[in-house]
Amino acid sequence: MTTADPHVFLVGAGPGDPGLLTLRAAELLAAADVVLYDQLVPKRILDFANPAAECLCVRDLPGQTADRTPYTLQRMAAAAAAGKIVVRLKGGDPFVFGRGGEEAEALRLAGIPYEVVPGVTAALAAAAFLDIPLTHRHQASAVALITGHELPARPGGKLDWEALARFPGTLAIYMGIARLPLIVAELVKYGKDPDTPSAIVERASMGNMRTTFAPLHNLERARRQAGLESPGLILIGPVIDLRAASSWFEQKPLFGRRVLVTRPRDQVEGMVRKLERLGAVPLVLPTIEIRPPDDFGPLDAALYKLREGLYDWLVFSSAHGVHGFVKRLEALGRDLRDFGTVRIATIGPKTAEALREYRITPDLVPETSVRSEGFVAALAPHVRGQRLLLARAEQGREQLRTGLAEIARVEQVTVYTQVNVLDPASAPMDALRRGEVSFVPLSSANIARSLLAAMDATILGRIERGETQLIAISPETAAVAEGQGVRVAGTATTHTTEGMIEEMVRVARAKTT
Ligand code: SAH
Repeated sequence: MTTADPHVFLVGAGPGDPGLLTLRAAELLAAADVVLYDQLVPKRILDFANPAAECLCVRDLPGQTADRTPYTLQRMAAAAAAGKIVVRLKGGDPFVFGRGGEEAEALRLAGIPYEVVPGVTAALAAAAFLDIPLTHRHQASAVALITGHELPARPGGKLDWEALARFPGTLAIYMGIARLPLIVAELVKYGKDPDTPSAIVERASMGNMRTTFAPLHNLERARRQAGLESPGLILIGPVIDLRAASSWFEQKPLFGRRVLVTRPRDQVEGMVRKLERLGAVPLVLPTIEIRPPDDFGPLDAALYKLREGLYDWLVFSSAHGVHGFVKRLEALGRDLRDFGTVRIATIGPKTAEALREYRITPDLVPETSVRSEGFVAALAPHVRGQRLLLARAEQGREQLRTGLAEIARVEQVTVYTQVNVLDPASAPMDALRRGEVSFVPLSSANIARSLLAAMDATILGRIERGETQLIAISPETAAVAEGQGVRVAGTATTHTTEGMIEEMVRVARAKTT
């Protein structure tokens, strides 16, 4: 960016699903130095912000809602003057309610250049995810975006409810849940048919989306029965009867199911996105963190021997092992040529994939299984009596080393360590105790062990009764739970994140049919 470019961007965050961020919004978030976001912006969207950016919720600025605008502006102005890229992030579209227009005006008055990035506004998201066309050739020739915040029938109100009652199309009412009875009374008073099909939707576009449908006169009662609360969007009009019994989104195989995500941090985003695409609600629970070994001495010595050609085979048991190994090589100022002619074996497709990122094709990727015994058996004919370096985590897979040691001259070296960071008091663990979580993926034996250690009798009871189901990445991982008498509902056929997700879908389908 040049100095002539604006440094302040009023950006629409969309309704919640990050897939509905515009490319421009994602690009600006990734480049931002400061992100000032509204309270209603789903936290998930902040995952797309530059990790080094200062993310600040305007709620935490001084004052009440109405008079925070000057503080927000001050912040933006100061950061822009310092040459920082400021993203002012607003839910939905920045110019549909939520005071985006006032902020733009204030920026103009202050002589601060800015750009506006539109977003998918709540009414459009609600329509799409409920499978209701907002307009229709025979049913609705117009759409009105209305604020329900204004007290109907208040003298000096800006809304003409009489005109809205006659409006020839779909009414989309924002911020109206708290005043729903008043809104309905006003519309009916002015002649709106009390039987007009109506809907309320909460968290449109997200896996925890909730809806209720009723004729207008009954909407408030339906809302209370369904337990829907503010914020939500109200849709009123004949188009609502054009919907399918359940929308394409509600038919997603994991719709509404809460799933713990227990992968190390660098693999979280991929799994979260896949789950969101299937309608699930991912809850990220950090369990294990990957850190460099406490002492690089043994690894450096092994890397030296590798360069000297003192190994016939190099065995990687995880993608982390591959990355840690290559990273250390580079940190020592050397490069991939040090691999020379050593032959390489990897356990499982993900480890092989990690290696291919460095343009190295493994010589052997046993197809049998990621289980240690299967791997050793597949490797045996190739490595008998040879010199083999096993690059691995400090913990785990002891079977692998002992198995290999029976047939080859094995040296092992620690490339990374795994630190248990699971916090039993964290929000996902509370959700687990309350029985809100459908699936707990056990994505490695280590993760299974630390999760099981953190589970109390309440959680174990829920697993026993099948309210919460464990999905293991491999039979070896399932055995960790089963060995402690804890039931595993499914084991992935392919031993990857995708495999676990497929298994969840299978188990979810079996449960509902
Ligand atoms: N600028 C936002 C609206 C801000 S006003 C936009 O364009 O969407 C806040 C209101 O928006 C809420 O009270 C609710 O009525 C609505 N809203 C925002 N996101 C929503 C969502 N995901 N589902 C349902 N309603 C939503």
